[in-house]
Order: sequence, then C-alpha cells, then structure tokens
Amino acid sequence: MLDDAGLQALREAARLSPDNLPLRQHLAGQLLAKGYLGEAEAEYRAALVLAPKDAGIMAGLAEAFVRQSAYGAALAALEPLLASPGYPPKVGVLAARALLGEGDTARAGYRYHEAVSRDPSVGDADLAARLSAPPTPTYGTTPPPAPPAPPASPYGASAPSGQSYAAPVPPTGPAYATPAPTPVDGATAEVERSKLNFADVAGMEAVKESLRVKLLLPIQQPDLFAAYGKRAGGGVLLYGPPGAGKTHLARAAAGELGASFVNVGLADILDMYIGSSERNLRATFELARRNRPCVLFFDEVDALAARRSDMRQAHTRQLVNQFLAELDGVDQNANEGVLVLAATNAPWYVDVAFRRPGRLDQPVFVPPPDPAARAAILRLLCRDKPLAEMDFDAVARVTDHFVGADLKGVVDRAVEVKLQQSISAGRPIPLSTPDLLAAAQSVRPTAVREWMATARNYVMHSNDSGAWDELLPWVKAKW
Ligand code: ADP
Repeated sequence: MLDDAGLQALREAARLSPDNLPLRQHLAGQLLAKGYLGEAEAEYRAALVLAPKDAGIMAGLAEAFVRQSAYGAALAALEPLLASPGYPPKVGVLAARALLGEGDTARAGYRYHEAVSRDPSVGDADLAARLSAPPTPTYGTTPPPAPPAPPASPYGASAPSGQSYAAPVPPTGPAYATPAPTPVDGATAEVERSKLNFADVAGMEAVKESLRVKLLLPIQQPDLFAAYGKRAGGGVLLYGPPGAGKTHLARAAAGELGASFVNVGLADILDMYIGSSERNLRATFELARRNRPCVLFFDEVDALAARRSDMRQAHTRQLVNQFLAELDGVDQNANEGVLVLAATNAPWYVDVAFRRPGRLDQPVFVPPPDPAARAAILRLLCRDKPLAEMDFDAVARVTDHFVGADLKGVVDRAVEVKLQQSISAGRPIPLSTPDLLAAAQSVRPTAVREWMATARNYVMHSNDSGAWDELLPWVKAKW
C-alpha cells in the first residue's frame, strides 16, 4: 500500500490528468485500501463517468458504499452487475455483505454461497460466520411467516425481541380506532406496533419538534387541519449519517402517534424476480392504507430513488415510477392517514421527483449527536442495566464523532466484558464509567467524518436549489 506521501502524489497526478482512467482507478483503489472511503467513493464516481460500464469500477464504488454502511446505495451500484449471469464471484460476496447489512440474511446467504461455489477463494470466514449465526431479530428483516395470532397478541408472534406488540395507549385520542392488523396478499412487510415513543429518542429536540408539527399534529388534530384545507398524510425524507438514529426515530414517531408501523427494507422491494417487486410495492402501500393511521417507513430509499437517469434497467425505472405513483395516491384520499417516512444516508441520490409537493417534500436532517445528546443516548442505552454512579458526560466527551449506533456498540461491548467478570465473580458487578471509557477506546466510530466530507462536496458544489442549506453549518464545522 502507498504511504501518505505516495497517495498525495497520486492525488496530484489525477488532478492534473482528470481523464486518465487507469490513474483514477488506481487512486480510487488506494484510497479504498487506506480507508479514505468518502474520497474513494468520489474517485470511483468520477471514473464511472469516464467508463460507465466498467465492472471493476462499479464493484469498487459498491465496496466504498458497503464500508460506509450505505448498503442500499451499494446494492443499487451492484444491480447492473448482478443482473448478468456469471457476474464475478467477488461481486456476489460484496452483495452478500450489503444484503446482510440490510438485515436480509436469507438473500445474503444465497449470494454468498453461490459466489463461493463458483470460486472458493472469495470465501470470507467472518462473513460466513455471521451468515450461519442463529438469526438475531433485526428490524427491517422479513421474519418467517408468523403462526396464527393468539387472541392476546393481535399482531402475531413474530415480534423482534424488545418489541411489545401490545396496543399502545394513544397519546391524545387518535382520530382512528386502533386497528387490528389487516394482512394484504403479496406484501412481505409486517405490521408492527412500536412501543417506542419520542421519550426513547435522546437529544434531537429540533428533529422531534419538526416531526411533531409535520406528521403528528395533523393526525392528532385532523379537524383543525381540515379547517385550513390540509389533510393528514404526506411524506418526510429523513437524512443524515448512518447510525444517527433515523430508523429509531421513525419507529418512535409511530409509537408516539399510536399508529401502526410498517418497515420496508430495500430488500423487501428490490425483489430478484422482475414483476414481483411492483406487486410487492403496491401491496406494501395497500398494507399501510388498510392499517391506517400508519407510519410507512422505507429505509435506504436512495437505492430505489437513485437518480433515474443512472439506471440502466428498465425494470428499476418502472419501479421508481410506480413508487412515485403510489406516493401520489390513486385518488385524493388514498393516502390519508398514511405517513411515509423515508430514510437515506445519501439524500443527493434521491431524485428531485421524490421531493415534489405531496411526496417526500419535507427533508429533515438527522444530525450526528453533540456531547449532550451523546450523554443522553448513553443514559438511555444503559437504563436497564445494573449501574454504579455514572458520569455519562465524561464518556460523551471522549466519543467525538460517535453516532447512536456506535454508542450502542460501546454499551454492548462494556456489557459483554462486565458479564464475563460477573460470571467469574459469581455475582452481578455493576457497569461503571471506566467500563464505558474502556469500551469507547475499542470501538471505532462509523463514517461521520467521511459522510461530512461527502456532504460538503454536495453542499458546496451542487446546492443550486438550496436543498441542502440545512447542512451548511454542519459541513462548515471541523470534523
Ligand atoms: P440509522 O437508521 O440512522 O442508520 P438507527 O436508527 O438504526 O440509525 O440507529 C441505530 C441504533 O442506535 C438504534 O437502534 C438505537 O439503539 C441507537 N440510537 C440512535 N440514535 C438514538 C437516539 N437519539 N436515542 C437513543 N438511541 C439511539
């Protein structure tokens, strides 16, 4: 691998010869190898402009995405490669990593084993172990079919652990009776009842307030809104770095409202079989409509919404058009009481058509947490554990650039260590501040810095419409 001076020289050479494809490709590969993921992504993109059909570049771009946890974008980048039979086995492994990131263990396993059967040298022990581990329930996955629902649990028995399927007490008397879930043929997503509410989302006061006004008030006070000719419904695009809490927030919004929650991962929709994705998408909207009020959450929407012009496959284009049609609703009232929340780590890939009025027209930035928010997240994550006196502020101070998901990693790691010690000691030993501080040392924060670098590029160079103004103060700060 090149040292930093060598890399700098390569960057300089590429800057001087922007059309030299092998040079750019080499630079991109070196950046990827050294972990400069945002920069590698930008280089691969630039190379893709020069050679739009180059499989190596597409795979490199996808790897940069996977390593930034942008699994949806990775799958979108891999889609043209996976569509041709005999794609390189390495590409299959990459797809498996992205699918696993999306929580789709079944398809990840299929891709992985198919790739390794063609070329055993692409095997990856770590990935194989994760694929064969007993499935941990992950939000956004499609659980196996639930057995018939017992009367006390009207939402079926396939609740992920930590989820309560008891109907929540509606906050201020919702306009609709709490529905029993109505299944829809062809919809792979499940109707959930979220027991989270905004009290379970630490920090993010501005974001919660904005969602309250945009989503919750119109549903909670429909008469008032009707008086001004406004209906409940509509869409919000949550965007921000991976792990900052977009999914958590969407789930909490559903709980706050006493609405059903339908969580649709990209894998649920981008079905491998042409035709069934359209049916699945239609059925998913139908599922939300029959279970209104409902928060219909689309994760990694960038994969579906990647600029349509980038898409070579008519199939994907068709799917995007259908998504837009479903958002618009067949008639005026079709989506009343259906709140579409979409999340993306890469809002710049989301077609402007998605942001037209009545669609996902309200972008909301979910920022990385500041120290106070980090302390609040840590407090929340530790609340059910045996605790010594804790100084969460001290941990917050040493976890610069950590997002909610990273902090969860810190707490999980500290708990694991504590559990081992407790087993040896034969008694529970409470978790303490030094435990969290030690765990924080061993957890690497995910890609906030890289994300901000990418965001800065877009904000500075493609912000003609002012769409990313909200990001300006963030990208100007030092990361
Ligand atoms: P994203 O959807 O933005 O990638 P997630 O919502 O999946 O991120 O966040 C990962 C995890 O981090 C959540 O399941 C939750 O445990 C934790 N988390 C993130 N943000 C918060 C927050 N503000 N308060 C409490 N927990 C949070």
